[in-house]
Amino acid sequence: MKKVGFIGWRGMVGSVLLERMRAEGDFAGIESVFFTTSQAGQPGPDVGAGSAPLQDATDVEALAGMDIVVTCQGGDYTREVHPKLRAHGWNGSWVDAASALRMEEDSIIVLDPVNRTLIDRALESGVKDFIGGNCTVSLMLMGLQGLFDQGWVEWMTAMTYQSASGAGARNMKELVSQMAALGEIGAGLAADPSSAVLELDRKIGDALLSAEFPTEQFGAPLAANLIPWIDKGMADGRTKEEWKGAAETNKVLGLEASPIPVDGQCVRVGAMRCHSQALTLKLKQDIPLADIESAITEANDWSRLVPNEEEVTLRTLTPAAVNGTLDIPVGRLRKMVLGPDFVTCFTVGDQLLWGAAEPVRRMLAILLGRL
Ligand code: NAP
Repeated sequence: MKKVGFIGWRGMVGSVLLERMRAEGDFAGIESVFFTTSQAGQPGPDVGAGSAPLQDATDVEALAGMDIVVTCQGGDYTREVHPKLRAHGWNGSWVDAASALRMEEDSIIVLDPVNRTLIDRALESGVKDFIGGNCTVSLMLMGLQGLFDQGWVEWMTAMTYQSASGAGARNMKELVSQMAALGEIGAGLAADPSSAVLELDRKIGDALLSAEFPTEQFGAPLAANLIPWIDKGMADGRTKEEWKGAAETNKVLGLEASPIPVDGQCVRVGAMRCHSQALTLKLKQDIPLADIESAITEANDWSRLVPNEEEVTLRTLTPAAVNGTLDIPVGRLRKMVLGPDFVTCFTVGDQLLWGAAEPVRRMLAILLGRL
């Protein structure tokens, strides 16, 4: 029976991973060992074989006893522990949700519905580090896989609308605190049909900019606002999140030698969960819209076309509608007035599922020979 060590299982991505593994019966037939960076010795989760004390996630000797390590702990942990474990002589498989090892030459970014061939080739050639991709990149590729598979895409821009939970649990709570503060300030005026709307506007505007408004995590108001900056700035003017759009898309597709240009702007919005993206694609030729629609729907079991109509868009193409599902709806699809080879669409996906936990869960299943 394979021994699988789990680190970061109580964080946002890790909790979703455990939930999905329980739902799919993935814990059967493996020996699961749970680690922690902060609670060693406390009882671990019961995934079917009773609870055992949590082990220290920095104990290289204990980790070296695992056949497979699955971590959702974050990049700092990976940077600290992965090199020590490999230096210790450990030759097991490392499956990771963090970005730290994604662009390493001897790692592969895993998104098996899109790049199973690359994963199989990597397994044959002895690759041992399997890293989940950036959430927006994975969600975009799940939605538009058909167009890339057909080789139709000349270049693409992605304008993102990323949710608060993409920044972690504390940020999600801060958004709700911001909403609560605004609700308290504006409730009376909003409920009073005879109140002056400009007074409501002024009160909310003043609150957003006041020193007491809770912005410790985001550094700016997100409720009733947006933040056009995600991750670190880079020398060329992009943010790291925007850089990942190009670098990771091409690595997932195995196109590093002749990359498809991808660029855009990444924006944090006040959605709780699920990232959305407005995409502009320059195709290599004028492809009929019906062929584009078929390519999108037929590429994998999760991408789904939403007709470009108001009622169904409002009902199904929003973060609230997609939250907690594996669906990748693609809608607002049309040719642009820019020319017949320009296409635009809008897609939404749960960044904790296909954007993080699901590719990791499925990679574990591949390593166990179950998928
Ligand atoms: P997170 O929620 O901050 O959890 C990470 C770790 O923080 C936990 O495993 C836990 O470790 C510790 N922790 C401390 N206080 C906690 C508390 N009150 N509740 C839960 N955990 C607590 O991080 P995350 O969002 O899951 O992200 C993990 C990695 O996945 C990061 O590298 C991130 O970039 C990547 N990722 C995240 C997303 C996303 O949408 N959030 C998407 C794709 C990739 P101990 O038990 O050891 O203390």
